[in-house]
Amino acid sequence: MQPLEERLFINNEFLPSQSTQRISVINPYNHAVISSAVHCANKDDVDVAVDAAVAAYKTWRKTTPVERARLMNRLADLIIENVEELGRLETLAMGAPKFIAEHGARELAQSLQYYAGWADKIGGEVFPDSGDGAYRMVTYEPLGVCAGIAAWNATFLFIGWKVAPAIAAGNTYVFKVSEKSPLGALALGKLVVQAGFPPGVINFINGTGEAGGALASHMKVAKISFTGSTATGKKVQIAAASSNLKKCTLELGGKSAAVVFEDADIDNALGCLSQGFLINTTQVCAATTRLLVQDTIADDFIAKLKVRFEDALASFGDPSLPDTFAGPVADEAQFTRIMSFLDAAKEDGIQSLTGGGRHGTQGYFVKPTIFVDPPLSSAIYREEIFGPVLCVVRFKTEEEAIALANDSIYGLGASVFTGSTARSLRVASEIEAGSVGINQPVVPDSRVPMGGMKQSGYGRENGKEGIMAYVEAKSISINMRV
Ligand code: NDP
Repeated sequence: MQPLEERLFINNEFLPSQSTQRISVINPYNHAVISSAVHCANKDDVDVAVDAAVAAYKTWRKTTPVERARLMNRLADLIIENVEELGRLETLAMGAPKFIAEHGARELAQSLQYYAGWADKIGGEVFPDSGDGAYRMVTYEPLGVCAGIAAWNATFLFIGWKVAPAIAAGNTYVFKVSEKSPLGALALGKLVVQAGFPPGVINFINGTGEAGGALASHMKVAKISFTGSTATGKKVQIAAASSNLKKCTLELGGKSAAVVFEDADIDNALGCLSQGFLINTTQVCAATTRLLVQDTIADDFIAKLKVRFEDALASFGDPSLPDTFAGPVADEAQFTRIMSFLDAAKEDGIQSLTGGGRHGTQGYFVKPTIFVDPPLSSAIYREEIFGPVLCVVRFKTEEEAIALANDSIYGLGASVFTGSTARSLRVASEIEAGSVGINQPVVPDSRVPMGGMKQSGYGRENGKEGIMAYVEAKSISINMRV
């Protein structure tokens, strides 16, 4: 166990913030104060971090791809060596169970390894003279200083999705961590130094929306990648456009649908929609919080799901223990937000089939909750809750299921459960979502793009699209007659 780092990681150093504001980190399991002194970046601190990244960019973009890959792989190795400590810090701050928090750190290492492999594979194109005497080529160049702003539910994953492709392509980075989960990223700073990265290539700052806003509107930032709610994403896009028209990738909220047909493997569907659904206490952007079940199997399916939800409570507990499946929600604000949805449903006479309130008296635990056939206009059915609350609605036909699934402002993920390959592909192609799991939940993977349609955002992270979002094409034509 190492002493907590609470300052800002800029230019390979830990610096005190210029602002005197401090962030408190409270353990959501037992309310213990983990820190009341996490430094909080203001606009001036953002300027210092961006200037460090600007200076580093001059040499980093010219570093050979092989060298960039070597450093990235070294950092990945160090993350794996320190996976327990990194996981512990996430667990303390936002209550992710040990196995999830460590999985996040491993996924970050994998993103670094994956994009290290891409560093020397960004080629170009050539077009020979087509009669006008000019030879043309297209090259792909890094953008410059890029910035990331992220939610708290999977900080390590977001660092992997944003920082890894950016630095592989020759950009430098300033990443603003959520105020709910600052400790793991700061510990990572030490590993960045140990791996041998030049100062200023990777910077982590803690801060509130003020620091996020300063990054989004910064004149020296070429691109911003944002993961968070749709409401904040819209503010980020406005700030980006009204400053220097920086490029944006927006990974936003969701109210994803799972469709279960009568020919599905019922046991598999039940597992995915109970244990799979409750992972990270359903603080998962692509969680399928609207479950559509074919009417012929609905009563039996819902009864079995209720049992699974109630049984799952036995494995809710102390998130620092290896056998704990789910912990509390991230903090008091998140708990209060979820309770306000549950209370509003009660006031409107919408009864939960199970759950519907707090679990226990210590920690911000919410009982896994199911609502059956809530009004389609109700807030619990339409709005993102970001907690263990599932709405179930019956459908008769495939067409009705697709219409229900698409009746949302969001389009992040979806799942289809059926024994028919043809139907699974037909429905997957009709559903308006960036990712679809067939007979499984959506599980992000570094090799395939992740992102949303409609108000779940635009742009993609991961895969080839993830790195191409950190370069831009330049066309060069050569007069062959001189
Ligand atoms: P928020 O939108 O509240 O915050 C996201 C980040 O933005 C935080 O770092 C926050 O800082 C920062 N921020 C707040 N105000 C501003 C501003 N005006 N300008 C710039 N940055 C700002 O989301 P949550 O942190 O509550 O995360 C939950 C949301 O994230 C859910 O909607 C979820 O669906 C979404 N999400 C999307 C994912 C995807 O891949 N599509 C993945 C995971 C989550 P601070 O922490 O200080 O408030």
